[in-house]
Amino acid sequence: MAKGDAAQWRVEPGTKVHLGKIDTRSTDGAPGGKASTEAAMDELLHDLQGLQERLYADGGQSLLVVLQAIDAGGKDGTIKHVFRGLNPAGCRVVSFKVPSEEERNHDFLWRVHAKAPAKGEVVVFNRSHYEDVLVVRVHDIVPDDVWRPRYEFINDFEANLAASGTRIVKLYLHISKEEQAERFRARLDDPSKQWKFRKGDLDERAKWDDYVAAFEEAITRTSTDCAPWYVVPADRKWYRNWAVSRILIETLEDMDPQYPPAEDLTGVVIT
Ligand code: AMP
Ligand code: MG
Repeated sequence: MAKGDAAQWRVEPGTKVHLGKIDTRSTDGAPGGKASTEAAMDELLHDLQGLQERLYADGGQSLLVVLQAIDAGGKDGTIKHVFRGLNPAGCRVVSFKVPSEEERNHDFLWRVHAKAPAKGEVVVFNRSHYEDVLVVRVHDIVPDDVWRPRYEFINDFEANLAASGTRIVKLYLHISKEEQAERFRARLDDPSKQWKFRKGDLDERAKWDDYVAAFEEAITRTSTDCAPWYVVPADRKWYRNWAVSRILIETLEDMDPQYPPAEDLTGVVIT
């Protein structure tokens, strides 16, 4: 495995994740420090755009990117910086919030399946069905015997999507508790960021260890060959953006989408 390969961040199926052992400030594999890594991003985003264009034209496969993190982990920033150049005709972002009454009256995957990508599409899930084994577990929203079986339901659901032509990339943006405090402070101090802060965020912060345990178990139990998890060190935003781009490019290259063959154009003259 070369540095900067997606395998560097992939959680191999069957291995147990210890988030505490993974350095949130890592810059491992990056082409250099902040300036040179940011400079390398232009080319990566250009490659990503080209690959997405081919996926869209090919129309035979789709890509689902699941983004999860603790609050202030950088989901929104990742979307803004990594997906900004994609052709919007073939790309959607779906943010999952507290389920509505209608959503709660269905099984937990109902609302998620409805938003899964169609052939040719890239879809980014900003939060996802994983909330149903994360916040739901931490807050005892449903009993253990209801959420526990969900790991298997999730694996089956994702295997079904994969079998119908969807590649699934699951990204956990890994920040430290200190970095979260920094980012919350930045939100409080900046009037243009205050809307991102809710007092409830501090109640969630108090449950940090419970969230870490919930993430560790979710990632361990649901990193599969057809839908692997990647743990991306995310204290440094420039490294996070670079690593996520690398993972997506490698995935799309492996999918190898092709432009459809042109019709027989011999003799065609535009007058
Ligand atoms: P935000 O991403 O900051 O807009 O917040 C969305 C909120 O919705 C977060 O507090 C999530 O924990 C919550 N949420 C998302 N999905 C679920 C779910 N399935 N059950 C309960 N809460 C959820
Ligand atoms: Mg929030």
